[in-house]
Amino acid sequence: MKPSYANISVKPSFATSRLELSRQALEHNLAFIRRQLKPDVRYSSVVKGNAYGHGIEEFVPLAEACGVDHFSTFSADEAYRVKNCLSGPATLLIMGMIDREQMEWAISNQVEFYVFDLERLEHAREVAERIRRPARVHLELETGMNRTGFEPEQLPQLVEYCRTHSRALTLAGLCTHFAGAESISNFLRVKHQRKYFRRAKKWLEKQNARPECIHAACSAATIRHPDTHYDMVRIGILQYGFWPSPETRIEYLQKNQAEDKNPLRRVISWKSRVMDLKTVKAGEHIGYGTTYLANDPMKIATIPIGYAHGFSRSLSNQGRVLIRGRRVSVVGMVNMNVIMVDATHIQEVERGDEVVLIGHQDGKEISVASFSEFSSQVNYEMLTRLPLDIPRMTIE
Ligand SMILES: *Cc1c(COP(=O)(O)O)cnc(C)c1O
Repeated sequence: MKPSYANISVKPSFATSRLELSRQALEHNLAFIRRQLKPDVRYSSVVKGNAYGHGIEEFVPLAEACGVDHFSTFSADEAYRVKNCLSGPATLLIMGMIDREQMEWAISNQVEFYVFDLERLEHAREVAERIRRPARVHLELETGMNRTGFEPEQLPQLVEYCRTHSRALTLAGLCTHFAGAESISNFLRVKHQRKYFRRAKKWLEKQNARPECIHAACSAATIRHPDTHYDMVRIGILQYGFWPSPETRIEYLQKNQAEDKNPLRRVISWKSRVMDLKTVKAGEHIGYGTTYLANDPMKIATIPIGYAHGFSRSLSNQGRVLIRGRRVSVVGMVNMNVIMVDATHIQEVERGDEVVLIGHQDGKEISVASFSEFSSQVNYEMLTRLPLDIPRMTIE
């Protein structure tokens, strides 16, 4: 049996909802982020988690069309997908999982990757020697996140190793990751991390072993700590039009006395249609169990979206959607494939009407933040739960 995933073939028009990616919004966000950077700082677009739910196969070509030429993923499978949908030259960087078996593919395609232990470094050297192509490695440094990374004390040994095997190993980068730069409560911890990283960089420079690209900043650090930009920033959440935290946004607005209350634009919208309409008598319960009792006669619209599509169960009796420019509430439990909403006060509502789960409709908006506050998920989690099989499309 040949294992395969994403082997689904369905006409997109058969789906019960769709995700739209706005090119204008992405261009706007990229321009905003660029304005925070010195001109020679590289921009890496972080597309792990299926491009934060936006869909690698839709988002990457769109970003490419907007001038992005560096993409960072968590794992080799994601890098493989990115590679397959690129139309021009771009650098790919795997920041997390890559196995011995995947290294040959990565090295022969000049896909760069993090190394954070000696075993991985040795594997990279072995494979590179065997296929006679240099491995472009980024040394990840442990500075206080305590997730992955070499201890700074290991640096001399690492530099020595890379020098000895300089035909097989190219020191493409030195990097680290901050443990929660989006929150002021981590200020001290991140400050120490910045210091340790700066020291390591200086030490390498003294040894004449400066890697080609030094990078540390995610979205929050890019906004809050310009001293962490170095040669490249790795931007995820901001480019999709969301702040890493409300704090980051407020701090930015205060520091810059920005007139525009939100210099970012949401790239994604999520839309479905009314599947059915019915009236319910006063005194009846709606949906599974008894969580919702109709006090008055009600008009209920059924929407073909449920927790199987990433609409969290915790939005039961809480979520809101837009129909005919009006905000209406989810009534009863979120089911696997449907939700019911209260359409009592929308006289004109008809089967087939557009339903906005995230996005704009006639001047009203449901943002992911307001949507996910209800479900106590942060933007990151809610977005990445949007399943692979919802069709994505790019709009102007
Ligand atoms: C996810 C991730 C980023 C991007 O984080 P954002 O907060 O979305 O900008 C950067 N670097 C690493 C190592 C990551 O895992």
